Amino acid sequence: MTCTHSPACPDASSNDCCHAHVVVDHSEQGWCQLCNGVILFDDGLYLAPDGHVEQVPISA
Ligand SMILES: [Zn+2]
Repeated sequence: MTCTHSPACPDASSNDCCHAHVVVDHSEQGWCQLCNGVILFDDGLYLAPDGHVEQVPISA
């Protein structure tokens, strides 16, 4: 998957990964997929493309 957004979305391995554009919105099911492959859950967790789950960093 190649990002076509401008500016480009943050890489899935970056600290900003949860700020990528939403490409698949299943918020009614509690999750959405971001442009960089991250799955973002509405309970404050995200699933990275490499399969690990992390807390979404709180950004000021
Ligand atoms: Zn993008």
